[in-house]
Amino acid sequence: VNVELVSIGAELLLGYTIDTNAAHFAREAAAHGIRVVRRATVDDGAEEIAGAVREALERTGGVITSGGLGPTADDLTKPAIAALFGRAMIFDEAIWESLRARWKARGWPGEIPEANRTQAMVPEGAAILENRHGSAAGIWLEDAQGRWVAMLPGVPREFKGMTADVLIPRLAARVAASGANPAVVRSLTLRTTGIAESALADALGTLAKEPHGVRLAYLPGWEGVDLRLTAVEMPAAEAASRLSKAESALREVVGKWIYGTNDAELSELILTELRGRAMRIAVAESCTGGMLGMRLTAIPGSSDVVQGGTIAYDNVVKVRELGVRDETLMAHGAVSEETAREMAAGVRTRFGVDVGVSITGVAGPGGGTPEKPVGTFCVAVDVRGAVQSLRTAGVGDRHEIRQRATQAALNLLRRSLVG
Ligand code: ATP
Ligand code: MG
Repeated sequence: VNVELVSIGAELLLGYTIDTNAAHFAREAAAHGIRVVRRATVDDGAEEIAGAVREALERTGGVITSGGLGPTADDLTKPAIAALFGRAMIFDEAIWESLRARWKARGWPGEIPEANRTQAMVPEGAAILENRHGSAAGIWLEDAQGRWVAMLPGVPREFKGMTADVLIPRLAARVAASGANPAVVRSLTLRTTGIAESALADALGTLAKEPHGVRLAYLPGWEGVDLRLTAVEMPAAEAASRLSKAESALREVVGKWIYGTNDAELSELILTELRGRAMRIAVAESCTGGMLGMRLTAIPGSSDVVQGGTIAYDNVVKVRELGVRDETLMAHGAVSEETAREMAAGVRTRFGVDVGVSITGVAGPGGGTPEKPVGTFCVAVDVRGAVQSLRTAGVGDRHEIRQRATQAALNLLRRSLVG
């Protein structure tokens, strides 16, 4: 089943809002054999909306719109498309009642404003698409030739919710009705960290191109390099089998760099590993100023593993709070593996926990030297007295360098826990 997307909103054209709805829909749809063949973005005006939808209907016959279903004067999607289909707008008592009930249930003062009545207006002969995530109902309009438009609200939470609840099931049913074994697009992401993109490609050798007939994309970022495998245009069962073969093949070669799949979070994996060993952790951070603590405590349930930490920004704090020796600072400097190791050991013993992790570095943009340029950072972990450290150079601006240092500290800990 082929569809076109029409995203509606002046703010999208102006670049103030990024069209995450279209991206979200395209990703979800591909897995079900629904192909987005074209996307358009138009202004809120009735003519612009009708023009884009008319062209898409003539070309492809199936259109999904996003936005312009609200109660304000700039919300013209429904009347514009109704006019295109030659349908009148009629008042839907059931929608109005549910809007009123919703207003009351929220405890908002007074009666629902009359302006909301436009939200209860629907094109004649339309099917209502239930919105369990907000007030604006979605609309499905179909003509005698089976050409259709699905209108969804623009608010991303509502758009996503309705895509999952009503739109994908409806379209998937059409795909199923259109014949057996439809071609789908399925992806699997293997998340690596601590290895450069080029080194990964080298290691993978002949696998680097199209392992088992699936596409392989390298997606580098501060978290590491994601390897995204995509099976394109094949039946779901074949896609699943090829993806799993490709995954095994990649794991065999670069498995030690892979910390998870799809949305896996390195800090979550660390917490799971520590919890399994009944270990508690404390952190000592210089240049990252709390980012490591933030990454760990962002995960629900972190309190049974995370003890706390010290932001040891000034050397005085490194010495007084963590027991870093003056001689170490004098001989090697604050940004050194030696200092990082003493910070990790210090925070571990002072907090009375099993694991200490530390970060010290030059986040820039100032403060670099020929020997320790901007981006140089050192991380160390102390697991019950066994200390490991590494020094490396990260690229990017100040924020990115801090993120990379945090990720490197987490990865060093992962490596020392799981080997
Ligand atoms: P409302 O009932 O809130 O008026 P609506 O269906 O009329 O909803 P819009 O007014 O177009 O939707 O947009 C509502 C909000 O959602 C705005 O903050 C807008 O920036 C955001 N938004 C709209 N379209 C998109 C999109 N395609 N991707 C991401 N965000 C969007
Ligand atoms: Mg609106």
